[in-house]
Amino acid sequence: VTTAFEHQVDDVGRWYWEGLAAGELRFQRCRNCHTPWLPPREQCSNCLSDVWDIEQASGAATLVSWVVYHVAPHPAFNDRVPYNVAIVELEEGVRTVTNLSGVSDWDSLRTGAPLEVVFDNEQGIPLARFVLAPGGTE
Ligand SMILES: [Zn+2]
Repeated sequence: VTTAFEHQVDDVGRWYWEGLAAGELRFQRCRNCHTPWLPPREQCSNCLSDVWDIEQASGAATLVSWVVYHVAPHPAFNDRVPYNVAIVELEEGVRTVTNLSGVSDWDSLRTGAPLEVVFDNEQGIPLARFVLAPGGTE
């Protein structure tokens, strides 16, 4: 049986998807220069080392940037507007592209707002999204 989830899994990122399915947000950290990164890649983007460790993120992050689409970019997204794409920085220093959940007042968002990870499952695919942490504006 082939599921949508299995289509997403490759050798490089298997540990990432398995982490999400287990409720853990995992990232890589270079053993040579200690740069952390996400999403999964075979080599460190800083020094090109292919020797790295997998670490588990605390789930705490801050909001770096976001966009909200009020008009669907494709008819397939019609039932999902307003649809957002956000860049967040994990407290471990990793910046990643994600979606925000549970935001009702987009005008109240501010750069640097504290966030925390939530684990969703969409059509069998585990996803990490972020919600405003206690103390965040809204
Ligand atoms: Zn490195």
